[in-house]
Amino acid sequence: MSEQNLDQLRKELQDMNLAILNLLNKRAKVVEHAHRIKTRDGIPAYVPEREQQMLSEILGENRGPFSDKTISHLFKEIFRACAQLQETDSHRQLQISRAKSPDSKRIEVGRVVIGDKPIVIAGPCAVESEAQMEQIASELADLGIGILRGGTFKPRSSPYSFQGMGEPGLKILRKAGEDHHMATVTEVMDTRAVELVANYADILQIGARNMHNYSLLREVGRCEKPVLLKRGLSATIDEFLWAAEYIASEGNDNIILCERGIRTFETQTRNTLDISAVALLKAKTYLPVIADVSHAAGRKDILAALARASMAAGADGIMVEVHPFPSVARSDSQQQLDIEEFKKFLSDSGLEQKSLKKRKSGGVK
Ligand code: PEP
Ligand code: MN
Repeated sequence: MSEQNLDQLRKELQDMNLAILNLLNKRAKVVEHAHRIKTRDGIPAYVPEREQQMLSEILGENRGPFSDKTISHLFKEIFRACAQLQETDSHRQLQISRAKSPDSKRIEVGRVVIGDKPIVIAGPCAVESEAQMEQIASELADLGIGILRGGTFKPRSSPYSFQGMGEPGLKILRKAGEDHHMATVTEVMDTRAVELVANYADILQIGARNMHNYSLLREVGRCEKPVLLKRGLSATIDEFLWAAEYIASEGNDNIILCERGIRTFETQTRNTLDISAVALLKAKTYLPVIADVSHAAGRKDILAALARASMAAGADGIMVEVHPFPSVARSDSQQQLDIEEFKKFLSDSGLEQKSLKKRKSGGVK
């Protein structure tokens, strides 16, 4: 008889569990409905005073055996779960997520399409003179390189090191690019310089040190130009993705993500190239991903191996520093390749580019 009673009580309990479950989900739906109205009418989603008032009314009705403290705890959990539900819907999911667009992004710059065939971005660490840029652009163009790099605003560890040529450097970079039919990429370090740099360059680079500079990210997000966003020195993949989201949230999702090595305990390389990041970024977003092997390694001898590894992990291309005379370069001289070393790099990594130079009419096919 008592066994039968117990069965009856167990059934009652489970019926109540299911009733609570139904009520919880019903409550969640009402919250979602209210949220849609609030979003439409621009009413704040979370008003702490309202939540406090609801809780006071509930506690006023509490007849026990649960204490007010327990009831308060349980209801706060319910409120929190409902609030989180809204966040998941509208704020938590990245606009740049692969789930939002199964097609990978293709970004056209000049004569290249990033996100199509493997691309190579090459050029010196910094623009130093017209002669330097003319020479390197001509040699790189001969090798079919479609995008020329060169810093004119340099983020240096010491304020006394060469800071870049500024606007005169931008002019030199643009001329070299135009003369050799190459698109150009250069770093912008300051919100106040975005317009200036965008007037000269085809792609705006956000350097590793500025990946967390949210006002700069928003500013380039309001710009028409594609953005090459480098991963911060110690940024997690999630932080990197949210940095890209800042740019996209302003309306510009022409973003190229660049893994450039992260700080680790290792001393043989300048940074540690994070190959998992390349694979994960490709899986998590629809954006093109490239690897900057020069700043990752900080040395010349393993660049082709790193490039091969990056491409195998799914990268859309590689960035590499090339200088006509690396030994006298004004920055990063130890890691820049000369043109002969660069040719070897291209063949060792299997990244030889199809020549972009127009054949002379009547030339042998
Ligand atoms: C660069 O590419 O010129 C550069 C400074 O790299 P990073 O921001 O990755 O250090
Ligand atoms: Mn450099």
